[in-house]
Amino acid sequence: MKEFDLIDRFFKHGGHQRKDVIIGIGDDAAITQIPANQYLATTTDTLVSGVHFLPDSDPRAVAYKAVAVNLSDLAAMGAEPAWISLSLSIPDINQDWLASFTEGLYELTQYYSVQLIGGDTVSGPLALTITAQGFVPHDSALRRSGAKPGDWIYVTGTVGDAGAGLDILKGELEAEQAAADFLIKRHQYPSPQVVAGTALRRAASACIDVSDGVLGDLRHILHSSHCGALLHVDKLPLSEALRSSVSPQRAIEYALTAGDDYELLFTVAEDFKSQVETAFSSFNVNATCIGQVTGAVNKVELKLNNSPYRYEGAGGFEHFNAK
Ligand SMILES: [Mg+2]
Repeated sequence: MKEFDLIDRFFKHGGHQRKDVIIGIGDDAAITQIPANQYLATTTDTLVSGVHFLPDSDPRAVAYKAVAVNLSDLAAMGAEPAWISLSLSIPDINQDWLASFTEGLYELTQYYSVQLIGGDTVSGPLALTITAQGFVPHDSALRRSGAKPGDWIYVTGTVGDAGAGLDILKGELEAEQAAADFLIKRHQYPSPQVVAGTALRRAASACIDVSDGVLGDLRHILHSSHCGALLHVDKLPLSEALRSSVSPQRAIEYALTAGDDYELLFTVAEDFKSQVETAFSSFNVNATCIGQVTGAVNKVELKLNNSPYRYEGAGGFEHFNAK
């Protein structure tokens, strides 16, 4: 099968069809329409076999996650996803592999009414790059830079699951079957917090998605906002599956430093606190307050049950400076 036929067969229909796609796949470039009074948000992410996913990964999971991480970045900006494009490098043309890959690719795009509008397929080591684009109304994009001392720090969902799931896949952690299945699913099929992101427009003072662990991503907000934070590690939302699989200390470490959860970490001024909590309960999204922004620039103070918490993980630190 030639590349041309391959693209025709697996990618040409582009999944969900949108009215704002004037010209989609099949021409030299896609032509799309941006709504009036909205800005275009653009993000891109590359996943390389052996670096970002295990070489023997299920192609459905690889494609799903590549879409999910891009939609998560749009969500962190408060943007509603619209279009993706895909650049795929594959060592050989395996139709079963491609069928499974496209199944994973279109799962979230169907759910969020996102259309694949273009891309490129080349022969080479397995890797894929997805570019996602979406809309955000003027003056409502979420940034990393708006946190102020006194703002409350929240995180959606539960954190630490994906890191534990990866360790189970690598054979470095054992868990009971049901818990293991849950944690692996959280690693392979993360749910981008698209609804939460749009609900936080004009309400959150800063926002980021959790790709590097709560601590690392909080550091990005603090660095951009020139603030510090007090973080209550006992308030971190941990799943039952994670808590039943590792020690309390290890569960906290997964939440703080393991990545790939793709939850939203955000800050809210006191005046917007009840508005945000009402919005989240009406959307049925969990968000947990885990701390507060302080004026101690780039310093994070960790507490466990209101006592200083000594973090003994890699690098062993208690207080640290944000980069
Ligand atoms: Mg991000």
